[in-house]
Amino acid sequence: MELTEQLREELAQEIAEGQRALYQLSEFSAADAAAVRRRAMEKFSQARGTDLVLDATGHYSFDAEKAATQHCENFAGVAQVPQGYVGPLRVRGEAVGDELLFVPLATTEGALLASVNRGARAITKSGGALVMVEDVGMTRAPAFKTSGIEQTKELLAWLDANQDRVRKEAEGTSRFLRLEEIIPRTLGTTVLLRFRFTSGDAMGMNMATIACDRVVNNLIQPETGVQCIALSGNFCTDKKASSVNWQLGRGKRVIAEVVLPQEVLSNTLKTRADKLVEVQLRKNLHGSIAAGSMGFNAQFANALAALFLSTGQDLAHVVEGAMGLTHFEERPDGAVYASVYMPDLPVAAVGGGTGLATQREALELLGVVVDPDRPGIAARRMAEIAGATVLAGELSLMSAFTSSDLARAHERLGRAQKPTAG
Ligand code: NAP
Repeated sequence: MELTEQLREELAQEIAEGQRALYQLSEFSAADAAAVRRRAMEKFSQARGTDLVLDATGHYSFDAEKAATQHCENFAGVAQVPQGYVGPLRVRGEAVGDELLFVPLATTEGALLASVNRGARAITKSGGALVMVEDVGMTRAPAFKTSGIEQTKELLAWLDANQDRVRKEAEGTSRFLRLEEIIPRTLGTTVLLRFRFTSGDAMGMNMATIACDRVVNNLIQPETGVQCIALSGNFCTDKKASSVNWQLGRGKRVIAEVVLPQEVLSNTLKTRADKLVEVQLRKNLHGSIAAGSMGFNAQFANALAALFLSTGQDLAHVVEGAMGLTHFEERPDGAVYASVYMPDLPVAAVGGGTGLATQREALELLGVVVDPDRPGIAARRMAEIAGATVLAGELSLMSAFTSSDLARAHERLGRAQKPTAG
């Protein structure tokens, strides 16, 4: 239906007054419906005495239909985030080979790109980051309710006897999904089944969920009579930091390392090996233990959130990816061995937000492009780049602690107005 100015005003008024739901605009194009929603918010705010104009929100360059149908219900516009590049960052790994890369990062935090860029420079001058990636796979753990131990045993025996049928049902839902294992856990009358799948170049959360749904509804419930209470029973664990993910991994398990010679430490990072080891012990280990934290690191979340945003990864997975350990070790001649261990890094080269226009450009810049003849290799490449980028962030921030540079850098780079004296 064509949207005239008068119709837009009427519909917006109805939404602002709560007489029409935000989603009740299906007869219009995505762009027109978005315009109505923005106008409705302007009217809603004006009724409260403010002069809101949503011009900036309405300026976007991606395909509105795709955004509205695949990515964002009640689509109204865009939340823009500045994006820059860091690099060149030398990355070495099975998927990347050995390459110099520029990495796109999107953030609102001043000083972050400067920090990661300094770490990238240090890595590249030191011969590059070597990154090892294991494809642990995506997990989904439905929760079942049994009548007690006897029915629990029957359920687990059924699962044992029907492994091949369960695999066939699950893998039949996608060309790329492979069931790797099912780990059961029983607590009272609750049985959790942690399904683990590899999913090619996709992060795999939709794929794993769809596969579990089929197995639960077509096989487990009808054949055992045991009721599934929740398709996700939190033993997965999706989008929450968790001990099970720390121990068993999720998505990709990554180690990135570099040996920094003494001259790179002093010239680029303005630090020394012994100082880095000391900060590591007091901050990342003792401080994190005192806090009960699962992030024995300085800022995994910072580099990850910026990289996830620019490349269309699921941002909420930063909460898992931020778990992990930064490690420093003194080596002969004043050098330092540095590494990051990331047990839980869900990343993708296809699916989810990776198909949006700016995110696609960022992935292409990184060479993260699906190769139909080698499924999974592009997602591994993404994980290798993420590992090296996180390592760069750690090196720079940890060095800043050793030279008390942290507050100064944020004051200089992250503040619109200089603090006034006195
Ligand atoms: P998806 O976008 O749902 O599916 C990926 C699609 O890409 C599949 O249809 C797959 O093919 C296709 N594909 C083409 N080439 C591929 C390749 N080389 N490797 C793998 N797949 C390939 O992606 P997903 O990773 O499963 O799910 C990601 C989405 O899930 C994100 O939007 C995320 O926000 C969301 N999410 C969902 C849940 C949930 O519980 N459902 C939880 C967290 C996040 P086939 O058709 O053969 O499978």
